[in-house]
Amino acid sequence: MPGGEYEVEPTKRHHSLHSLSESSETGPDDEGPPPLTPLQKLTADMCKDEKTIKDLIVGRRVGFYKVRGEIGCGTFSRVKLGFHALTKDKVALKILDKTRLDSQAQRLLYKEISNMECLHHPNVVRLFEVVETPSRLYLVLEYAGGGDLHSRIATDGKLSDNASKIIFAQILSAIKYMHDINVIHRDLKAENVLLTCSGCVKVADFGFSTQVSNRSVALDTFCGSPPYAAPELFRDECYLGAPVDVWAMGVLLFFMVTGTMPFRAETIGKLRRCVIECAYTVPPWVPGPCQRLIKGILKGDPAERHAVDQMLGCDWLLPVQFPWTMATPELSSPLQSMLDSERSDLAEEVEQVEEEVRSSLEELGFSTEHPPNGRPKDSRSAVTGVYRILLHQAQKRRGCDSPPVVRGMVRDPKREGLRAYKGLRHTSKLCVLS
Ligand code: ATP
Repeated sequence: MPGGEYEVEPTKRHHSLHSLSESSETGPDDEGPPPLTPLQKLTADMCKDEKTIKDLIVGRRVGFYKVRGEIGCGTFSRVKLGFHALTKDKVALKILDKTRLDSQAQRLLYKEISNMECLHHPNVVRLFEVVETPSRLYLVLEYAGGGDLHSRIATDGKLSDNASKIIFAQILSAIKYMHDINVIHRDLKAENVLLTCSGCVKVADFGFSTQVSNRSVALDTFCGSPPYAAPELFRDECYLGAPVDVWAMGVLLFFMVTGTMPFRAETIGKLRRCVIECAYTVPPWVPGPCQRLIKGILKGDPAERHAVDQMLGCDWLLPVQFPWTMATPELSSPLQSMLDSERSDLAEEVEQVEEEVRSSLEELGFSTEHPPNGRPKDSRSAVTGVYRILLHQAQKRRGCDSPPVVRGMVRDPKREGLRAYKGLRHTSKLCVLS
């Protein structure tokens, strides 16, 4: 079975909680057939139930997911709300029509999937599963129900200093994690920073991301959104990935604290000149520590630009208590990092999480006879989807999805004037530098 480590238990051998009511004192003759597990019921419905089959045919269901209304759309995709039929969790289904993708778009899509597969961080949208039909590809993603940062600022205006710190710290945490495993996002912008209802940041849209063998590899593809593009991209040079993401974070930070973009122009040519000349002014009312951070990031020469670690240590972010994952950013996944950690308290917690997931899988009707610590890795398996959703639930229960806090934070009751950046949402572009 795809996914390997977990299997659907045959009805006879089922020992899940659903069969615990069976008493050993009852003779085999008195026993009716054991109750179906949720998984058995669902798979039976998918084969025999008329309504379920019709839903599958018309696209109201795909794999184990019920498909509901549209929540967004991108250049090549429509994003719909989905529900897992077994765990009942909400997910975002990014739907791509394969027949409308040219070879370049297909290449980017497969890169997006493979890069997302290796990302597991509380501030990065998690890829749960990939479902493929003859004409469509469905990326089953962690759902972020709080909208995107661009819409938030366009509607409510610039963020307060503390709100900016909390959001920026999470973006930084995600980028630090990605860069540590050599993944470059290349399309950071407010539209791609999603928020959950509890204010947790989820960096999304890995359509232009790339994984390099080491951080000194030079890249030559211009991608991203022009107002967020670093000067070296406009100079048609080969460029290093990490400083380009850092520059985009500087533009994002400027946008968060002022509600306006640092580089604005009516034409791409004029924008290019502004960016190359590094012509921007930070309003004087922006707090000094934040101004210093912006100026340290938005430097024309990538070699002089702040590195992610310098940003982490800056004065402005000093009062921020980072999410717990910051403790072990160099490791490939928070869960794995905890497992590999020599700190026994963390290893113990990981054991508990694994145990919770195992027992939930059994309750649903998956057998866990195979290696107890086996973690399904194949994204095109329904078992992987359930496993990752349950793991995500268990980690959420442990507060892994909570935003950081600012120590000694004082809520500012004075709402600063709305200077919303009402411009068009930024469209990302891709072209190969000559
Ligand atoms: P673009 O053309 O802007 O690069 P895209 O085709 O790559 O877009 P996405 O940016 O991934 O598509 O998604 C489009 C929109 O769908 C987002 O702006 C957002 O509103 C919504 N969306 C995407 N992923 C999620 C998610 N995980 N949770 C909630 N909404 C989402």
